[in-house]
Amino acid sequence: MQYQKILNAIAFEASKTENRGVVASYIPELSNIDDGKFGIALLDEHGDFFASGDTEESFSIQSISKVLTLSLAFKLIGDDLWERVDVEPSGDPFNHLSLLEHENGIPRNPLINAGALVVADILVSHLRHPKQEFLEYIRKIAGDTSIDYDLKVAGSEKKTGFKNYAAAYLIKSYGNLENDVEDVLDFYFHQCALSMSCHQLVKVFYMFANRGKCLEHNPYLTLAQVKRINAIMLTCGFYDEAGEFAFEVGLPGKSGVGGGIVALLPEKFCVATWSPGLNLKGNSKLGMEALEKLTTKTGLSIF
Ligand code: GLN
Repeated sequence: MQYQKILNAIAFEASKTENRGVVASYIPELSNIDDGKFGIALLDEHGDFFASGDTEESFSIQSISKVLTLSLAFKLIGDDLWERVDVEPSGDPFNHLSLLEHENGIPRNPLINAGALVVADILVSHLRHPKQEFLEYIRKIAGDTSIDYDLKVAGSEKKTGFKNYAAAYLIKSYGNLENDVEDVLDFYFHQCALSMSCHQLVKVFYMFANRGKCLEHNPYLTLAQVKRINAIMLTCGFYDEAGEFAFEVGLPGKSGVGGGIVALLPEKFCVATWSPGLNLKGNSKLGMEALEKLTTKTGLSIF
């Protein structure tokens, strides 16, 4: 497979695209990003790395982190997790609250904000130093100690994350949050503020394409766990655009409002894109277009 040629062609087409979407501004610190950035990086099943564009530059991974906290919580408490969060697509934007009230504080899935808050609560309950231990988990999987939180982004979201406060209090009112709302949100705002490059993202997400093993072949998740998390990424990874992503791209994946997307084809490759401009559903506009081209040009998808 000529991945390098294909990635170069995709990056070239992206550089010529005028409508690049709109950079998220509801978290003030995110609005400073240059919307001209574009990167695409891929790790194949042999561990060979291919990249084109701005793939070494770090950005705020935001909701992509929800898959990583989910994986750690699943490791820690196993199937008990599913008593506190469901696995159905919500069909709603990432920060909607209405279903939460209809469904008694059990979030639809772990990849919308409400579900990620319950997962964050589990980590706050089970880890002695949640922020530090989560960061170490990510660094170890990637084999990269330079990965860190962007404290400015975390602080910026803490000041303006009113909807997340509302969701957390609503969940708490139904008895589905064990810890103080402040502690859970502090952890959540930090996980979202993880700063990583496309290169680092493919190294961490490689385990979801490699039956639970990282690039060095150390096991982090069981195959059964990986299959479940990949299923959730496919059905819930793009909020109310999950159907469109499966339709156009055909890979499990996850987006973030920082403009990143990670996607994978089990036992074949893991790919990450970054372009800060978002479409109306809050997913990277050029990132989605790039991944559609990747699966079209390679003829590879889960279908
Ligand atoms: N931190 C963001 C929020 O909670 C994450 C949203 C996202 O990336 N979709 O609003």
